[in-house]
Amino acid sequence: MSTPRIFVVTGANKGIGLATVKALCEAVGSESIVYLTARSVERGTKAVQDLAKSGLKPRFHPVDVDDASSIETFATFLKKEHGGLDVLVNNAAIAYRDDAPEPIEVQAEHTVRVNYFGLRAVCNALFPLLRPHARVVNVSSAVGHLSWVNGEELRRQLADPALTVEQLDNIMRDFVKAVAENKHVQLGWRDVKYRPYMASKVGVSALTRIQQRMLDQDPREDIVVNHCHPGYVKTDMTANTGVFTAERGAVCPTYLALLPPNVASPRGEYVWHDKMVLDWVNADLPHPGY
Ligand code: NDP
Repeated sequence: MSTPRIFVVTGANKGIGLATVKALCEAVGSESIVYLTARSVERGTKAVQDLAKSGLKPRFHPVDVDDASSIETFATFLKKEHGGLDVLVNNAAIAYRDDAPEPIEVQAEHTVRVNYFGLRAVCNALFPLLRPHARVVNVSSAVGHLSWVNGEELRRQLADPALTVEQLDNIMRDFVKAVAENKHVQLGWRDVKYRPYMASKVGVSALTRIQQRMLDQDPREDIVVNHCHPGYVKTDMTANTGVFTAERGAVCPTYLALLPPNVASPRGEYVWHDKMVLDWVNADLPHPGY
């Protein structure tokens, strides 16, 4: 019997993550194992039970992307149980509502910590397990595109093909610090209401480009990581104001998760919800922006 392909989706108890698990289960059949992960055992188990009613059989494992020990426990489990990983969809994220009462500096620290540093921690723990031909999908956003950054110098730094993870970490930390001091506009960030979410997703996208560069040098063959905008989707995150269903939102992450072996493109690319590859540095975003 051949080794089963192992799929992992983070933040998958609801919304686009849940729809991605569903689409993957339907696409890959019973010879593969799809892990629906969530920070809440209760919500994750319930999601798995609901999918079982449609005959789908993902497995559950708790993963809180904001908790280093939870991530480490999962990495150890995957290694012991399966010896590797074939597909990772980094979907988990948070976004504060416009009318959230928390001070903006609290929102900035929390959002960047979960969306950028949490995703990065998952990658740090799970990338060593990726097998040849593995696929990674970092769910970014329309506002993760570089065109949402105003400052020329900041744009130059983020687009620099020699940017390192350490430098990007510092850019993210500087953003959080600058928000607390109301100096983020001087650094080149926009002063729009959802700026912490925007900065966190710009960070996710910039990180993806670095990751593909590093994986291109990796002895393991043909590992591909892309970042995407899933569309403007009716979920709890958008208070159901989106235009797409969660199933439609899952189309692009699922497509990128299932890219065939040795695919020429997309590799390290920013991919729009309709599967179109957009230049992350220079392209104008499609209108309307969803
Ligand atoms: P939801 O708010 O519906 O779902 C977010 C998921 O992330 C939930 O399962 C949530 O779990 C989970 N999550 C939050 N924090 C953590 C954590 N610390 N550890 C593990 N899981 C966590 O959002 P969407 O489905 O809309 O968003 C999915 C992805 O798509 C996100 O990355 C989002 O930024 C992106 N996106 C969404 C758009 C949209 O229009 N909806 C547009 C562009 C991008 P819990 O239930 O426990 O809170």
